[in-house]
Amino acid sequence: MEKLARKRVQALTPYQSARRIGGSGDVWLNANESPFDNEYKLDCSRLNRYGECQPQELINAYADYSNVQPEQVLTTRGADEGIELLIRAFCEPGEEAILYCPPTYGMYEISAETIGVRQKQVPLTQDWQLDLDAIEDNLNQVKLVFVCNPNNPTGNLIRKEDIVALLEMTKDRAIVVVDEAYIDFCLEMSSADLIEQYPNLAILRTMSKAFALAGLRCGFVLADENIINVLLKVIAPYPVPLPVSDIAIAALSESGLAKMQSQVLELNANRAYLKAGLDLMSGLTVFDGWGNFLLVQFPDGDELFKATWDAGMILRNSPLENGVRISIGSRDECEKVLGFIRNYYS
Ligand SMILES: *Cc1c(COP(=O)(O)O)cnc(C)c1O
Repeated sequence: MEKLARKRVQALTPYQSARRIGGSGDVWLNANESPFDNEYKLDCSRLNRYGECQPQELINAYADYSNVQPEQVLTTRGADEGIELLIRAFCEPGEEAILYCPPTYGMYEISAETIGVRQKQVPLTQDWQLDLDAIEDNLNQVKLVFVCNPNNPTGNLIRKEDIVALLEMTKDRAIVVVDEAYIDFCLEMSSADLIEQYPNLAILRTMSKAFALAGLRCGFVLADENIINVLLKVIAPYPVPLPVSDIAIAALSESGLAKMQSQVLELNANRAYLKAGLDLMSGLTVFDGWGNFLLVQFPDGDELFKATWDAGMILRNSPLENGVRISIGSRDECEKVLGFIRNYYS
């Protein structure tokens, strides 16, 4: 039956998610998951009924957290669904295009490819910032420009004045999608305050990273009400399972937010610890990271990746030559990885 699939789906290589790649051991630092396994209570009543398409209590809670209006919030099955909805709603297959800036998150390309939407790549500059001139030269037919901030896998922040310049450049032509999957680790750097001013800005958020709820599959799009209304036309009628909205609402309560914020502080401290330890070793480069991961360039990235893999410490190799991305785990996990790498090079 494979030959019955659409040609472009036959040719597609699925996203090589950390889960798909596998591995074995007890130190999992390859998917930027949180090491914290928080407890929630589940209410299993009223499961015979459909939930609201956009549970109002959840929308209000997330709007409060991110300082926007409830009309500017859409909840989705993870940020990944937000990516797909935006492409499906705004790009004509076979004609129009998305633009993104590698090295960056792989799902922009895969979602566009699946839907049959063209992709343009304008690489980040040497210091991993936006190449605004090259983007401007490539805007023909482009409806969505994806900017990942902080960027995965490099970890750096994109300059806010460049995001503003991009919003000005694309006014009335294209939507700038700022993927803020990791912004909760440096919330003051968010672009959410620009939504009031720029009707062509959409921001992706998720509960998978700082909120320690990767398995919940809950994300958000923040944007001008007009963009949200377009997305509401293409989203599934009942996209949010009742248990998902219940747990997300609990995570966004006052005590849930306090817990998340203290876990963010702890992970940021662990990141500083890991970076300081790696910085002491010669021959490798640790890039400044603002999310819950660090990108490190080793003398022999592939070999180091294999050595840690064999030792039951699963990291993520990156598209950058000799680059390995290390998620920030518990202090104990950071110590184990650091100790292993120190031994490996001594
Ligand atoms: C993890 C991640 C996502 C996906 O988040 P989900 O909400 O789990 O779908 C989106 N963008 C980036 C940059 C990510 O790293």
